[in-house]
Amino acid sequence: MAAKRNILVVEDNMLNRSLLREILKPGYDVVEAENGQEALARLHEYAGHFSLILLDIVMPVMDGYAFLAAVKEDAAFASIPVIVTTQNDAESEEVAALSCGAADFVAKPYKPQIILHRVANIIHLRETAALVNEFQYDQLTGLYSKAFFCRQVRERLFQNPDKGYDIICSDIVNFKLVNDIFGIATGDRLLRTIAQCYHENTYGEGICSHFHADQFACMVEHHSEYTENMFQDVCARINEMSQMQNVVVKWGIYHVRDRTVPVEQMCDRALLAARGIKGQYQKYFAYYDDVLRSKLLREQKIVDSMEHALADGQFEIYLQPKYRIKDSRMVGAEALVRWNHPEWGVQSPAVFVPLFERNGFITRLDQYVWDKACAVLRDWEGRGLPPLPISVNVSRADIYNVDLANILKGLIHQYQLPPSRLHLEITESAYTENPQQIIDTVSHMREMGFVIEMDDFGSGYSSLHMLHKMPVDVLKLDMQFIQSEPVTPVNQEIMRFIMNLAHLMELGVVAEGVETAEQLERLREIGCECVQGYYFAKPMPVEAFERLRATCNA
Ligand code: C2E
Ligand code: MG
Ligand code: MG
Repeated sequence: MAAKRNILVVEDNMLNRSLLREILKPGYDVVEAENGQEALARLHEYAGHFSLILLDIVMPVMDGYAFLAAVKEDAAFASIPVIVTTQNDAESEEVAALSCGAADFVAKPYKPQIILHRVANIIHLRETAALVNEFQYDQLTGLYSKAFFCRQVRERLFQNPDKGYDIICSDIVNFKLVNDIFGIATGDRLLRTIAQCYHENTYGEGICSHFHADQFACMVEHHSEYTENMFQDVCARINEMSQMQNVVVKWGIYHVRDRTVPVEQMCDRALLAARGIKGQYQKYFAYYDDVLRSKLLREQKIVDSMEHALADGQFEIYLQPKYRIKDSRMVGAEALVRWNHPEWGVQSPAVFVPLFERNGFITRLDQYVWDKACAVLRDWEGRGLPPLPISVNVSRADIYNVDLANILKGLIHQYQLPPSRLHLEITESAYTENPQQIIDTVSHMREMGFVIEMDDFGSGYSSLHMLHKMPVDVLKLDMQFIQSEPVTPVNQEIMRFIMNLAHLMELGVVAEGVETAEQLERLREIGCECVQGYYFAKPMPVEAFERLRATCNA
């Protein structure tokens, strides 16, 4: 059963007090006070948890007016409705009480039914108002809530069919970091600052909302030309007002053309446009346009068909050989996934892998690829071919999978393979995200006997001083090193430095993306052992790889 609501009865006359108590008792918990001062004490004691106050005006110590004034001045209590009890013929008393903020009055002598109805009505009114308030406004920023914003936008669009409008939404880049590093209070302050900026920049005429977390939205009259400067200025102002530095906000703009599109969807589109420029330095806003729309539709088609494609065997592994420079001997292969789509043809992983990394499907696809690679290794073993390791890509999401070690162990057990036959390529950027967890997981797999290759080395973030802590056997040099043009002495020296460092740490090096004899020569000159690239061979289906292998000495 729901707890009864509390009512505070403030009355100096004991008889009146007990009368009121008897009337209210069946429906409410009654707390009593003899005068204003005592009533204030009860308010503090109950932390304002009263649904209503019944107040006599004429009392010793502190009278009703003084009490009413004190209550209305205190933000914690001001919203508690007060009903004043007056003498039957005291019209001036009633007027005075109402003008001091009383919600209503009841006259003495008490008529139980009238009191009960007035009390119930006032409580109901106040609770509904509080609900409406909560529904309409975001408590933190005072802007509209998402639901109320959408309703207001719909109305504004409907009432002004000839006016053009834009929906502008924003996201803070790395807002979680702000909360993590500076604390929730600072994060909240930042959000309030942004709310204020929205308000200022729409001159009070836009409809503004704080959706949730770091997402804001507003609708303003259509503007034909937004510029980077406009948004950059707002961003600078947000930093200045919130006394922060380097907070970056990205905006997305949806020009409302079709008014039948649900407002929520308009906002989603604006947010998608904002998200699309997340990594782009100095880009503060983007429009939701046809290019983005078709890209998203295409992504949606990919997502819609991925499950079926996996079950239907549409994914296939291609193998690309790795060669030892000194004798051009094939020393391994990398398994790279391809999607043979019945309508779209062979799809490159560049099209779908980033998408699957975002929606998590990559972990299932990777397991499928690992399984296929192990099956190929088993087949070679069965046919008595000389051992040749295959590298598989292990995506960031796989490393966070607590089952990873068991899955890999299960595979080599099932296919009866030595673990060293399977090399695991882990992208460099994964190593920087949560180093200790990555180090632990990868160390464990290395102890199990798998060979660990750091993929895309040099493409991003790995700091050289962390390298010696990383459980790695081989560095795979990112192709930008080899392919960077023009070739300057500095480039060549950086490569030589990395090579020396790798040798010092007893790491193997594979250079990726070797396309020309000249690039190969440069690598040989600095002492790189192995290469992978179109100069030798492109990734190819397993049968083609096997034919190639048969013609080589591997
Ligand atoms: P990666 O692991 O760094 O693979 C090397 C990529 O470079 C491959 O692209 C390969 O075809 C390409 N490549 C090799 N030699 C050359 C060259 O000489 N010139 C040029 N321009 N490119 C060369 P691919 O197959 O399109 O794969 C792209 C990326 O997709 C891979 O980069 C990897 O990050 C990801 N990927 C591919 N297969 C899988 C997979 O099964 N699982 C996961 N998680 N990711 C995969
Ligand atoms: Mg790779
Ligand atoms: Mg690579």
